[in-house]
Amino acid sequence: MAKVELKGIGKVYDGDVRAVDNANITIEDREFVVFVGPSGCGKSTTLRMVAGLEDITEGELYIDGEIMNDMPPKDRNIAMVFQNYALYPHMTVYDNMAFGLKIRKTDKAEIERRVKEAARILDIEELLERKPKALSGGQRQRVAVGRAIVRNPKVFLFDEPLSNLDAKLRVQMRAEISDLHHRLKATMIYVTHDQIEAMTMSDKIVVMKDGKVQQIGSPMYLYNHPINKFVAGFIGSPPMNFLTVKIIEKGGKIIADEGSFELYPTEEQAKHLKAYVGKEVYFGVRPEDMVYSKTPAENNNMQLQCSVVEPLGAETHLYLKSKTQTLIARTEPENKFQVGDTANFSPLMEKTKFFDKDTEGNICEVVKSE
Ligand code: ADP
Repeated sequence: MAKVELKGIGKVYDGDVRAVDNANITIEDREFVVFVGPSGCGKSTTLRMVAGLEDITEGELYIDGEIMNDMPPKDRNIAMVFQNYALYPHMTVYDNMAFGLKIRKTDKAEIERRVKEAARILDIEELLERKPKALSGGQRQRVAVGRAIVRNPKVFLFDEPLSNLDAKLRVQMRAEISDLHHRLKATMIYVTHDQIEAMTMSDKIVVMKDGKVQQIGSPMYLYNHPINKFVAGFIGSPPMNFLTVKIIEKGGKIIADEGSFELYPTEEQAKHLKAYVGKEVYFGVRPEDMVYSKTPAENNNMQLQCSVVEPLGAETHLYLKSKTQTLIARTEPENKFQVGDTANFSPLMEKTKFFDKDTEGNICEVVKSE
């Protein structure tokens, strides 16, 4: 299998649209890497440059140490699975899977062996004689993956492969693709706008925004150590809460003043926040780091009002209002809340983040990006 390296990769489309700017990404051999970000952030363009479907405007692309910039797609030893599956409607499943090998003039017996092996791996052996219209969405998705597997490529590329499936099937296919990655031991690059797919499937996430890589790291690293407010808000569901607070100094202590309550940063946080006295910053707290208490806590108490109660079974999400801002908390289902209730929460301060209001950078942590 293969290592893929993007060095200073950029893409400018005709008409001066800059889609990707200076992307430096290394995908190790057998790694499952997800490019994630909102629509239009440049993730498909980046993938398509790896595939050879788009010219590379700037920088260098290497697969296994060999420069690929001018290599035609068919010689890159990659296989791509598209969002719309791109199956040939008039061909059977077998022929759809065999097609790429036929045009490469692979031996007939070898084609049969590979198609049957892929069908076995994907559990679609019973479907080989059917046409795509006689398949469910999930089955079509498997055929599209099968067509990639038979090629035995160095690198698998997936472009939003699950976005046409319903929610339940997406969860199932997510697990199937992860399982496939372990069994094939292949290098895989997967593009999605869905942060849950990124979190659950990847060894490494590349978060993109406006054509720029924001941060690269393992799912839990990004979750716990986001480089900026964008990554903090994008990774995690429900998302991190952000409150605008003013940093003040009172009696020698650094305090984050929300207007209706005051929060005491940890000693470590306070060191970094000293430079912000008199300024507003964003305070970030994840919904699970909001701790409920029946009586107001002595420090860091936030007295809030429930505006929405969402029982999900295993947990309940509460929408809580301060005088001016709204937060979400994840709570135990045993705690019964009603809309209009006043509730006391305090943030687990050591887990909270502060972000600069102008740069949106993480103020209190020195954070890595690969
Ligand atoms: P994503 O996959 O993250 O949704 P894309 O890579 O498709 O984003 O697009 C990135 C940016 O490039 C967007 O602003 C998009 O409008 C622009 N773009 C994509 N394809 C073309 C094209 N063929 N010509 C001009 N602009 C394009």
